[in-house]
This record gives sequence, structure tokens and C-alpha cells, in this order.
Amino acid sequence: MPITYTIGAVHDKLALVRAIAQGYQITLAEDGCAEVTSPEGNVYFIYNFECDCPDKLLRGGLHEGRCKHEIWISQMTPCPLCDNVMYIGEFHSSFGEVLQRFECRTCGHTLAAETILHTRETKQNMNQVA
Ligand SMILES: [Zn+2]
Ligand SMILES: [Zn+2]
Repeated sequence: MPITYTIGAVHDKLALVRAIAQGYQITLAEDGCAEVTSPEGNVYFIYNFECDCPDKLLRGGLHEGRCKHEIWISQMTPCPLCDNVMYIGEFHSSFGEVLQRFECRTCGHTLAAETILHTRETKQNMNQVA
């Protein structure tokens, strides 16, 4: 997704940390599938990165065809080792590069963001064929 947001930036409305700081409740069922409850109590369902909120359905998504809910849940994925959620983060490699990876705060498992994105692309392509 060619959408830019700043990971971990509470002032960036597309960053997951901001959503959580504002009081959104996000329950992830599987990668790309989640239930989002707004602080006002509105509930949105996202299936395979397609949200049913008015922004998406009526306005086609304000962020390059995406609504903020879809962008938020792209920043999380279920941990394959435990039942908790991995969140995207940045770290600096020993070569000075800034890399993105998903991290599980419960078991400490990490996955390169590229791995997750590749899995998602494969899944999207399979859905298009089906
Ligand atoms: Zn939405
Ligand atoms: Zn884990």
C-alpha cells in the first residue's frame, strides 16, 4: 500500500498508536479481518482489508482508496506462535538501515514487514482468482 504514515507517531491519524490513544478498540480475528469500535461506540467490520464504514462505502476511502480503519489493521497481524497480536515497528539494523518488522510483545517473536506484505499479496491474488 503506497500510503505513508509514521509508525508510532501519536499525532499521525493513520498510525495505529493514535487510534489506541484515542480509545478505539480493535479486535483482530485474523490478518486483515477485525472489528473496530470507535470511542463513540460505532462498530465497523473489516474483512480482508475491506471495511464497512461510511468513509469506505460512501466516499471510497479518504486515503488512496483506504479508510483509516483498514490502514490501522494493516499495522497489526496475529502472532503465529501465540494468540496475541504483533504490531509493526521500526528498528535500526547494524548497517544503519531503518527496517520495519512486526513484533509480538508477549512472546517476543518478530517477522520482517516484507514477509507479512508478501503473504498479504499472495492472499489477495488468490482471492482474485477465486
Ligand atoms: Zn473504515
Ligand atoms: Zn507471540
